[in-house]
Amino acid sequence: MTDTSLLSNSDAERMKTLRRDIHAHPELAFEEKRTSDLVARTLEAAGIEVHRGIADTGLVGVLRNGDGPSIGLRADMDALPILEAGGADHKSTHDGVMHACGHDGHTAMLLGAAEALAASRAFKGNVYFIFQPAEENKGGGRVMVEEGLFERFPCDAIFALHNWPGLAAGKIAVQPGPMMASFDTFDIVLKGVGGHAAMPEKARDPLVAASEFVLALQTIVSRKLSAHDPAVLSVTQMKGGETFNVIPGQCEVKGTWRCFDPEVRTFIRDEIDRILASVCAAHQIDYDAEYEFGYPSTINTETEALFAADVAKGVVGEGNVDTSFRPSMASEDFSVMLENVPGAYIWLGAGIEATPLHHPAYDFNDDTLETGRDLLVSLVTRFSETR
Ligand SMILES: [Zn+2]
Ligand SMILES: [Zn+2]
Repeated sequence: MTDTSLLSNSDAERMKTLRRDIHAHPELAFEEKRTSDLVARTLEAAGIEVHRGIADTGLVGVLRNGDGPSIGLRADMDALPILEAGGADHKSTHDGVMHACGHDGHTAMLLGAAEALAASRAFKGNVYFIFQPAEENKGGGRVMVEEGLFERFPCDAIFALHNWPGLAAGKIAVQPGPMMASFDTFDIVLKGVGGHAAMPEKARDPLVAASEFVLALQTIVSRKLSAHDPAVLSVTQMKGGETFNVIPGQCEVKGTWRCFDPEVRTFIRDEIDRILASVCAAHQIDYDAEYEFGYPSTINTETEALFAADVAKGVVGEGNVDTSFRPSMASEDFSVMLENVPGAYIWLGAGIEATPLHHPAYDFNDDTLETGRDLLVSLVTRFSETR
């Protein structure tokens, strides 16, 4: 069992102050300059070696304590382009930008854990505190990996926490296998031949073809995939035409698909393409199609997920750890780190009634800071005992 009694209330107050300071000064993806400076200063003040400029604003704090395993802990630092609602004292001072996903809290908890471990040195080996930029949409985690994160800081395992509204505060959820879905997109243009609306026989109507295409896409999840392979496909944009009496020359169709299994991921892409080719052939029209594989699914490795669950039981008690939590269809770019190093992504309960993530009235639940920090600290101390 980890002794977290060294951690005092003043540490908790300090984390809260840091969290609220970051909340008041949110920064978008790859623009986290102030946040990155604050993190670097805080780590350096704790005597932790800091390596900056990885994926621009990303940084890694390194704490060594003799021979032993190497563990990586990741926090994300970026905010979202949302105008904050509500009147908290620490409300965003940057109009149209806010911490609506709790990355302010994740950063403060990891700083709290870094300070606690630097003071206690209750571990053996190396701890890499990974502060990544641009988790939202822009894949800062991938950029860090591409810039040599794990060559420079080789980790035996990596872990990340994310707060989760809907899970009670004081509870933790982690399990082997999928935690979040992959996120991929399609951008398609159906290219017909425009003409007079009164004489469709002289045109090749891309709108009718696009309509058939959109309906046919709905059969991929419902008719082509097993009910045991969760997936969702949404068409989110259709654009074509300008007026009443003209058949337009083309129609754009855009959307996204999400799933857990990498094979399902490519199967869906292939099915979209097959249906598109068939529909366009039937209507004698051309098309351009672009498919972009975005974030992979977030899949916890078994050993590390079970280890994290066991550590969590030591922090919040056996009855407060859920190891069969329903995975989310949202996505997360810690997944790219998990493609390179074994590890686990862990949900930290934010409260059953907490405001959902990405909502303008969301605010990180400060009452969960200590639980998150204690879990991070315990992951490090227990990990060094296992090797
Ligand atoms: Zn988010
Ligand atoms: Zn997030």
